[in-house]
Amino acid sequence: MTSPAERKMQFLFALRSKGVTDVRVLTAMERIDRGDFVRGLFSTRAYEDMPLPISCGQTISQPSVVALMTQALNVQPRDKVLEVGTGSGYQAAILSQLARRVYTVERYRRLVRDAQKTFEKLGLTNVTAIAGDGSHGLPEQAPFDRIIVTAAAEDPPGPLLAQLREGGIMVVPVGQSDAVQSLIKVTRTPDGFEYQELRQVRFVPLLEGLGQE
Ligand code: SAM
Repeated sequence: MTSPAERKMQFLFALRSKGVTDVRVLTAMERIDRGDFVRGLFSTRAYEDMPLPISCGQTISQPSVVALMTQALNVQPRDKVLEVGTGSGYQAAILSQLARRVYTVERYRRLVRDAQKTFEKLGLTNVTAIAGDGSHGLPEQAPFDRIIVTAAAEDPPGPLLAQLREGGIMVVPVGQSDAVQSLIKVTRTPDGFEYQELRQVRFVPLLEGLGQE
């Protein structure tokens, strides 16, 4: 049987082999245990590099994708970060290790409640989960230094672009929801926005309004 220490080593090795080189990101991924965010039947698979089901028919993303998106975001210690798509809260917890403040918005109230409980259990005091349609951003806390969207949009949502600070970075999967999407890095410059295509990804769609649960 694999010991927890060996399991962690294998987990981090898998991330490195997928191109995660930023030591701060690797340290955050080492500190935050993915097992705390996966419940029930699938908890034994928490350390495998695959997406897994969570409540409300949603998924916790593949750890290597979480790490590569976090790396692309290049979060700085003073940053205020917005995540759209809380899901299990795993990505937000990773961000909480790198940023000053993290706000994460989710359309299912049940996922918000569960994530908030996990943050409390882990003593993560700089992350707040909020129920809402994250495609409108979070105007009361804007502007943000970094924005990460963990559901696929047909285009980078206008309100999120507007809430990105000058010099800020947004990472968002863009494309049709039933196809492979492109992960796009958007940088806000004094003159507008620069777009860089990073890799192919597959995310659930960014949907309008609040969910039923
Ligand atoms: N980041 C999550 C994690 O670490 O577990 C995984 C996110 S999951 C792939 C995508 C999430 O986006 C789902 O929980 C879904 O309900 C949510 N979502 C979809 N559209 C949304 C919207 N307009 N506003 C907020 N959340 C949304």
